[in-house]
Amino acid sequence: MNNSKGKLVLYSGSSGVGKGTILKKLMELDSNVCVSLSDTTRPPREGEIEGVHYCFITRDAFEQKIAEGGYLEYAEYCDNYYGTPLRQLNEMLAQGKTVFLEIEVEGALQVMKKIPDILSIFVLPPSFEVLEKRLRNRGTEDEETIESRLEKAKEEIGCRSRYSYNVINDDLNTAVKEVYDIIHQD
Ligand code: 5GP
Repeated sequence: MNNSKGKLVLYSGSSGVGKGTILKKLMELDSNVCVSLSDTTRPPREGEIEGVHYCFITRDAFEQKIAEGGYLEYAEYCDNYYGTPLRQLNEMLAQGKTVFLEIEVEGALQVMKKIPDILSIFVLPPSFEVLEKRLRNRGTEDEETIESRLEKAKEEIGCRSRYSYNVINDDLNTAVKEVYDIIHQD
C-alpha cells in the first residue's frame, strides 16, 4: 500500500453469516468506515447493482487485470474470481478512511502475508446449523450453490484462528458493538 493515512481492516466470515449486515450497521454508526468495492466474475444476484455491490466483469477482463498487477489480492471462490482493485483502495486510504476488505479466507491470507500487522476480524455463526438455515432462508442461491458454499464455510471456519479477532454473530447489535470496539481500540 502506498500510503498510511487510513486504516485497513480484513473482514471475513462464511457466506450467510451476516457480515454484510453488521458492516451496514457499522457504517451508519461511523461515517469514516467504508468498504472496498471488489471485482467479480460472478453474475449479479437479483437486486445487486453494478458499482455498488461489485464491479461485475468478465473472466477475460479479470485475468487481464491480474496480469497488470491491478489487485491487492484475488481468489477463486465457488468457480468465480473475486479481487480487490488496488487503485480505488489507495484512494480511500489516502482520504483517511477505515477501509473494510470484506473478502474470503484465501484472499485474506494473501493480504496477511503482505501486511503482517493488519487488523483482521472473522465473523462466526452461533452454530453451523444456524448458518445453514440463514443461507437457505436467504433464497438467493440454488441447491448446488448452497451445498458448495456450506462446504466452503466449514473449510473457512477452520481458519478462524488466523485472524486477530473472532466475533460471533448471534445478536446483531452485540456483534456490531464488538466490531466497533475492535476498530476504535487504539
Ligand atoms: P458472494 O458471492 O456471496 O458475494 O461472495 C463470496 C465470497 O467472496 C464472500 O466470502 C465475500 O466476502 C468474498 N469476496 C468478495 N469480494 C472479494 C474480493 O475482492 N476478494 C476475495 N478474495 N474475496 C471476496
